[in-house]
Amino acid sequence: MPIETFTAQVESIKNLTHDVRQLDLRLIEPRTITFKPGQFISFEMPDPQTGRLLTRAYSIASQPSRSGIITLLFNQVSGGPGSGFLFHLKAGEKTHFKGPAGHFYLRDDPERALLFVASGTGIAPIRSMLMANAESHNPRPATLFWGLRSQQDLYDQEELAELTKRTPTLTAVTTLSRPDPGWSGESGRVLRLIEERIASVKNLAVYLCGNSAMIADATSLLQKKGLCPIYREKYYDDTSTSDN
Ligand SMILES: Cc1cc2nc3c(=O)[nH]c(=O)nc-3n(C[C@H](O)[C@H](O)[C@H](O)COP(=O)(O)OP(=O)(O)OC[C@H]3O[C@@H](n4cnc5c(N)ncnc54)[C@H](O)[C@@H]3O)c2cc1C
Repeated sequence: MPIETFTAQVESIKNLTHDVRQLDLRLIEPRTITFKPGQFISFEMPDPQTGRLLTRAYSIASQPSRSGIITLLFNQVSGGPGSGFLFHLKAGEKTHFKGPAGHFYLRDDPERALLFVASGTGIAPIRSMLMANAESHNPRPATLFWGLRSQQDLYDQEELAELTKRTPTLTAVTTLSRPDPGWSGESGRVLRLIEERIASVKNLAVYLCGNSAMIADATSLLQKKGLCPIYREKYYDDTSTSDN
């Protein structure tokens, strides 16, 4: 699929939490996009300090069958030019992006069950993959481990419950690394879920997306359990160990 330049219009904006937003973009020219579930698009914006043009990538969070409107999911990064640019887009406003791109996409290896591990907005490309899998004729067995921080950071839980109902082969678990008192769901990092619930990786294909520490820690944990393909999309580098 060649990389194209698109003009799009903001169809709708939804605040999912105090710092996570969903944006639906209606494509104007070209009117549709062909992509693989998991791929990303890129925006250009000026650096507020120098005026120099910067590029930032955002995963397409919707499924390829929805080719005329795409969904993005992103969080606010204080003073960040990319997230600031997206947070400033208004309903009806036009914007431009390039895409699709990237090698983090759902492989066609139906003999393998799927394990998805996301931290924070790392859920975006995995949402696209989960939806594509749910729409396929023969949905593959899939497990999602999603790490967020606390109750105020939760979103898309009803959507996931609905998806799980529609796709009996899907198990979705959200875990909070720093839950406030009263949380009765899973707590701890996603690594704990991998440690405790994945006995063997032999027949798995694994997709990891989020911060660098989670990806590094999850990769070494999975590799201790055996050999399997591990596909990874790193959103950003963090110096401390992962919180999710
Ligand atoms: C292939 C790819 C796909 C991506 N898709 C998405 C997506 O779908 N949704 C999304 O929210 N982000 C996504 N990102 C991250 C995104 O491209 C930007 O890096 C992010 O929005 C921050 O950019 P910024 O210009 O606002 O801040 P910057 O000035 O670039 O970042 C400042 C600092 O903030 C930290 N940081 C960066 N991103 C985050 C974050 N998400 N959460 C917390 N701290 C962060 C880093 O330490 C960074 O050094 C993706 C990145 C890649 C490489």
